Amino acid sequence: LKDHGCPLDKDELGKTTWAVLHTIAAKYPEKPTETQKDDMKKFISLFSRFYPCEYCAKDFRQDLAEAPPRTESYREFSQWLCEAHNRVNRKIGKPEFDCKLVDERWRDGWKDGSCD
Ligand code: FAD
Repeated sequence: LKDHGCPLDKDELGKTTWAVLHTIAAKYPEKPTETQKDDMKKFISLFSRFYPCEYCAKDFRQDLAEAPPRTESYREFSQWLCEAHNRVNRKIGKPEFDCKLVDERWRDGWKDGSCD
């Protein structure tokens, strides 16, 4: 992503935000403590109150009410986030992402070595 030294537009904001969220999910523990599970739910909830695209945040809060974050494990949380991102993709007419590929995309790099 090029740094053009200007405020982010909606798509730049979205792309960089998803990168941070999926990368946080990639580092989320396999066996989180009760505090970590609870903190992650709070983090997502607070995030949804401050995300600086107002109508995006409003819809996201609605989505969280219908599909609350699953924070029991790395697997649960990274899949939940992928599904949440896919609901936004659907809403705005973008292709859905295959959530089986989330480890390769955001944690391990592609099996063909293209990220090494
Ligand atoms: P992005 O959707 O930003 O995705 C970046 C990369 O993530 C993709 O290239 C792909 O490699 C990967 N990816 C794609 N889908 C998934 C997935 N399901 N799981 C894991 N990885 C994936 N924009 C609007 O116009 N209206 C909205 O209401 C809106 N709401 C948003 C709500 C939130 C919480 C966020 C973070 C963003 C929102 N956006 C919204 C922005 C929108 O989601 C995109 O970020 C933006 O359109 C730029 O899209 P992009 O093509 O760069 O790819």
